[in-house]
Amino acid sequence: MLEAGRHPNINLLAYSEVKSVTGKAGNFTVKVLKKARYVDEKECTSCGKCVEKCPKKVPNEFELGLDKRKAIYLYFPQGIPAVVTIDTENCIYFATGKCKVCEKFCEKKAIDFEQKDETITLHPGAIIVATGFDMYDPTHLSQYGYGKYKNVITSLEYERLICAFGPKKGELLRPSDEKHAEVIGYIQCVGSRSLKDNRFCSSVCCMHATKEAMLAREHNPRAQSTIFYTDFRAFGKGFQKYIKRGEEEYGIKYIRSRVAEITEDEEQNPVIWYEDTKSRMVKSKKVDLVVLATALVPRKDVSGLAKVLGVELDEYKFFKTDPFTPTDTTKSGIFAAGYCQAPLDIPECVAQASAAAQRAANVVLLERKQSGQLRSQETPARTQSDTTSS
Ligand SMILES: Cc1cc2nc3c(=O)[nH]c(=O)nc-3n(C[C@H](O)[C@H](O)[C@H](O)COP(=O)(O)OP(=O)(O)OC[C@H]3O[C@@H](n4cnc5c(N)ncnc54)[C@H](O)[C@@H]3O)c2cc1C
Ligand code: SF4
Ligand code: SF4
Repeated sequence: MLEAGRHPNINLLAYSEVKSVTGKAGNFTVKVLKKARYVDEKECTSCGKCVEKCPKKVPNEFELGLDKRKAIYLYFPQGIPAVVTIDTENCIYFATGKCKVCEKFCEKKAIDFEQKDETITLHPGAIIVATGFDMYDPTHLSQYGYGKYKNVITSLEYERLICAFGPKKGELLRPSDEKHAEVIGYIQCVGSRSLKDNRFCSSVCCMHATKEAMLAREHNPRAQSTIFYTDFRAFGKGFQKYIKRGEEEYGIKYIRSRVAEITEDEEQNPVIWYEDTKSRMVKSKKVDLVVLATALVPRKDVSGLAKVLGVELDEYKFFKTDPFTPTDTTKSGIFAAGYCQAPLDIPECVAQASAAAQRAANVVLLERKQSGQLRSQETPARTQSDTTSS
């Protein structure tokens, strides 16, 4: 992200929204709404003095509500560009006309309450969509007790808890009493591979559960992790070896099972009731903490974005792509990479991003060739219009 932020050929428009896309491959017109931050991006050094003095605290979305942020805030510590933003919904000045404490303490005079939203017009030759996923909300799956039992959390909440710069500074403290969680149960396929919820396999959860269980042991040598799985989808290069390492070096126990219900004892310890699908016995296990591997699903706003772009979505609402040129969408000059087009892990998303960048470059080169701007040694490779029937 830092490299992208500093690259002379990359113009980063953060806190912005694509509003309309017209034109065709080689010559699109894109209107982008750049929202007012009420902070001058060129002046703010991200020193944090305004954040420290701001009196208004609200739940921190980046930490999934596990801690608080201020009304003026940096979305997350490594965020690019590293500038703060005033959240007008929670700022005291925007509600009452009084406060401006942040302005008083900013030595760079970066706070600008008069800043306005801007509409920017761009003329790209090609477009790459890489809008990723949303986490599935498991609250309605009442059998797991999420939202009812404090010590049942999602895998993303777990990642924030165990992260060194997260809300608990990397201590795996369970929410009910802040005691170290040592016996941990990970439940797979929550909302994935289900006729009632999402029929697809989210494809990254079997591996991330193993990584999370390894991290638990690295943080605490007494940690004992059990992964309750439907069937293990360790299909990538070196993945099966990773699982074996989890078992042998980190003592992770894998149980092929269907979890029927989670209850809670009088000390708020979750009890997992499950059918062991190998022995066909109904069993239970008491743990300190349950981690739900919830499905990764297409983003809520994806239909609106697809309409703006004029591209089709597939049956699950992932961006539809061509099977033989897998980053090509249904519209020439528009490409899709990463989880927005199918469940993929990070290495696969990175490989796709490179492929999409190459495909996009071909469109731009072809346009330049056709308009006579191309030097003779710059020959475009096969382009989207050569290979896509749609
Ligand atoms: C708990 C958990 C643990 C995981 N652990 C691992 C792991 O250890 N290893 C691994 O390989 N994978 C892991 N994964 C999977 C990994 O997170 C995904 O494969 C990866 O994040 C997908 O990358 P992406 O860039 O396609 O999408 P994202 O990471 O979702 O990024 C999409 C970006 O686009 C932005 N965006 C969305 N809509 C718009 C819009 N309309 N306009 C502008 N910007 C927009 C979003 O804010 C976001 O920044 C894990 C996933 C989870 C849930
Ligand atoms: S707005 Fe001013 S005080 Fe706040 S982080 Fe930026 S430079 Fe520092
Ligand atoms: S005006 Fe007050 S409440 Fe609003 S961001 Fe500045 S310090 Fe915080």
